Amino acid sequence: MRYSIFNLCREALCGHTGWPKAWESPTPKSRYEVIIIGGGGHGLATAYYLGKNFGIRDVAILEKGWLGGGNTGRNTTIIRSNYLENDSVAIYEKSRDLYETLSQDLNMNIMFSPRGVMMLAQTHHEAHAYMRIANANRLQNIETEYISPTQVFEKCPIICIDGPRYPILGALWQPRGGTARHDTVAWGYARACSKMGIHIIENCEVTGINREGGRVTGVTTHRGSISCDKLGIVVAGHSGQLADMAGFRLPIESVALQALVSEPIKPCLDVVVMANTVHGYISQSDKGEMVIGGGTDGVINYSQRGSFTYIEETVRALVETFPLISRLKMLRQWGGIVDMTGDRSPIISATPVDKLFINCGWGTGGFKAIPGSGWAMAELMANEAPGSLAEPFSLDRFREGRFIDERVAAGVAH
Ligand SMILES: Cc1cc2nc3c(=O)[nH]c(=O)nc-3n(C[C@H](O)[C@H](O)[C@H](O)COP(=O)(O)OP(=O)(O)OC[C@H]3O[C@@H](n4cnc5c(N)ncnc54)[C@H](O)[C@@H]3O)c2cc1C
Repeated sequence: MRYSIFNLCREALCGHTGWPKAWESPTPKSRYEVIIIGGGGHGLATAYYLGKNFGIRDVAILEKGWLGGGNTGRNTTIIRSNYLENDSVAIYEKSRDLYETLSQDLNMNIMFSPRGVMMLAQTHHEAHAYMRIANANRLQNIETEYISPTQVFEKCPIICIDGPRYPILGALWQPRGGTARHDTVAWGYARACSKMGIHIIENCEVTGINREGGRVTGVTTHRGSISCDKLGIVVAGHSGQLADMAGFRLPIESVALQALVSEPIKPCLDVVVMANTVHGYISQSDKGEMVIGGGTDGVINYSQRGSFTYIEETVRALVETFPLISRLKMLRQWGGIVDMTGDRSPIISATPVDKLFINCGWGTGGFKAIPGSGWAMAELMANEAPGSLAEPFSLDRFREGRFIDERVAAGVAH
């Protein structure tokens, strides 16, 4: 059933008892043309664009837990495309652009809110780096601008621009950056996939990758073996484990990244603010909670919790820039396992195993990339060759030293 004002009114009158399940829970078949491991945003978007753009619908998405229960359901939902390198800007802007019309495309309100994102410059180094990005973005046709401390204050009056340690020197401002509702992005893609006949199989952990003569033949799962012609690994922080099952290594480190939310308060912040020098960023959700994120844990781990020290450090630093935080009670804290590459750019690539493809390395900033990444991964898997979006992000770049260095644009920021 389509979501429309008429259906909504009808269901309101009969107690919302007529809505069908948003996606089916089919029993796995013994064989599929394509299997995608990982029911996060990137896995779901890959399956969706395989079906939509290439007509490949004999697809199964295998998810070990519940749909969107990984980083897709744990992130702080910042969307922007103001990266430095042309290759990064191409894929992040494609993604941001797809977000603009994703609600209509999926017939699900993903609450895309392009309220504007500012990245504060609090050291002279940072100011120069952001001016450079603003200049690069102008050449790349991305609307960003380096703004003055007065402009920062006009857009965000709760900020203390002459803080004691790190006064605000300016900011990189992207007016069409913003946020979206993370669960709904996953649910919207799932619903659209299910409608195309794509199987979404939750509670189905992949425990082995089956190969014959250097070619992938299928997977072993908790629910039995399933064969396939092509396999995509799209599991973010668990990419190293899955690559290990397939017999190759990845240049990835997995670490916990944390976030927390405050009690809800009246609207006081209608932009997204990132303060990378002090490792903190903040936005206000539609419910009124202040959504706060910090830096990554300093040690490799899979804890999905993170340690208290990092939360303390983030809040202590943000209080200097946003003094009102000191009076808020924090309600919830959580963590996710992010997959970090050395150049802080993703991997969308064929692998040493024939017919096995991988999409990972989005690190702390892959929510914004979900539509573009799914689009590029679907193209790679359907054609068995990368399109222009995916090509620069192959695994070969680490062997060839062809890095796409986004440590300034993505090192801490999201
Ligand atoms: C606290 C935090 C804040 C963040 N903030 C932002 C932000 O503001 N903006 C932004 O752009 N990005 C942000 N990110 C990063 C973003 O969340 C991720 O890059 C993105 O969600 C990755 O999506 P994914 O689909 O690749 O991974 P996931 O959503 O993690 O999905 C991978 C799925 O694979 C499944 N899986 C793993 N192993 C197996 C297996 N063996 N068998 C079957 N299934 C398996 C997992 O259960 C999981 O559901 C943040 C991340 C965190 C943790």
